[in-house]
Amino acid sequence: MRYDTVIVGGGLTALMCGIELARNGRSVALVTTGHSSLHFSSCSLGLYNAAEPLKAIESLPQSHPYAKLGAEAVESYAARATEILNIAGIATNGTTEANHYIVTPMGQLRQCWLSLDGALTSHNGKELDYKSVALFYPEGFLDFYAQFICDTLGAMGTTVTSHTFSLPELVVRRNNQTEMRSIQVARALDKEENLRALASIISREAGDVEAVVLPATLGFDHADVRQRLSRMTDKEILYIPTLLTSVEGVKAERALRRTFESMGGTIFMGHTAVSHTTEEGLIASVTTSKGITLTAEEFVLASGSFIGGGLAADREGVTEGVFGADVIVSEGNQTTRDIFEPQPFMSCGVATDGNFKVLIGGKAVENLYACGAILSGYNPVKEGCGAGVAVTTALKVADDIINR
Ligand SMILES: Cc1cc2nc3c(=O)[nH]c(=O)nc-3n(C[C@H](O)[C@H](O)[C@H](O)COP(=O)(O)OP(=O)(O)OC[C@H]3O[C@@H](n4cnc5c(N)ncnc54)[C@H](O)[C@@H]3O)c2cc1C
Repeated sequence: MRYDTVIVGGGLTALMCGIELARNGRSVALVTTGHSSLHFSSCSLGLYNAAEPLKAIESLPQSHPYAKLGAEAVESYAARATEILNIAGIATNGTTEANHYIVTPMGQLRQCWLSLDGALTSHNGKELDYKSVALFYPEGFLDFYAQFICDTLGAMGTTVTSHTFSLPELVVRRNNQTEMRSIQVARALDKEENLRALASIISREAGDVEAVVLPATLGFDHADVRQRLSRMTDKEILYIPTLLTSVEGVKAERALRRTFESMGGTIFMGHTAVSHTTEEGLIASVTTSKGITLTAEEFVLASGSFIGGGLAADREGVTEGVFGADVIVSEGNQTTRDIFEPQPFMSCGVATDGNFKVLIGGKAVENLYACGAILSGYNPVKEGCGAGVAVTTALKVADDIINR
């Protein structure tokens, strides 16, 4: 099968790059093993952890993906990524000028560039925009730390009342601990009778608060559940992300996939790219685990880092398995004992030239690009820039392919 461009990967990077190429008239195939990191992500997108992210980007080392782009391009690709998210129906808040903060499921505050509409946020990390909120969460819910959250909100000067709720369907689910996770709760609350029951509990118990806050378990299959609950209760409804699996992350991935396909893109879901061929120094084809061979003008490697499956490590070293790309292993490669510390292995990734063309045997391959989490030279956790690098490098690669 022949396409203009074949992308290996199915996460935020691959989908962003694929949508941009498809909406510019290219025929694009996306080959993906399956779920991406979005399933684990709170879906608050980080650009860079600094009071003024774009200023901070200016002084990064030349090996950093943002330094290869330049601060001006980062700003413009970030704006275009926001536009594409909106086209996909993913409404966001935030600017590249200054970070704001989301409340995490563990009750901490984390800087972000974009948060999804409806997330409980703080504009300055010191106070919320609400002086009184009521927190509601299902009894026996596993993915949410209500007491930590109440402590955080209270310390920010907001009065919080905490309420558990139970619905007949959730009582049945509670008999099996693995059933009481975010997605199962969201599926239950998608049903009209359950939503109405929750609305009447909120109306009865919330009192005169400025907003009602729930874990992010609203609207798995129906986009407007939060707004409907708001109308039913006559209260502003906000949410706090949950631990994995993330309902908002899964919804975002599905929305981006739908958008890509609606623009003519093709997804080979459940296909792992396993090998490639070359002709005259260029990549000619990729073959998948199901025996499909795809030929194209350009190939994009957006297969993620260790979690996504793009990189693998064993005693011999770190490798990229599809193209055998050169991998840069960060210096001081010793894992630190505190798992919450940024670990050096997170900066490992494939080597690219200044335009994200992949190096194989030290030489840039003219029609093979890499973007997103598989890139070397940055630490997404320490720098809070995972999603920012994903979307900006994806759009830069798409632009270069369109202008090729
Ligand atoms: C737990 C967690 C929480 C995070 N939270 C945040 C956050 O709050 N804010 C933030 O900014 N960033 C966050 N990030 C980082 C951010 O989510 C990622 O940097 C970004 O989503 C990377 O996307 P990606 O598409 O490059 O890689 P991935 O999301 O890893 O996707 C890789 C894709 O490639 C596919 N794949 C891999 N190998 C092959 C192959 N050989 N053939 C076919 N398909 C293949 C995989 O199946 C997967 O679909 C988080 C990451 C994790 C893991």
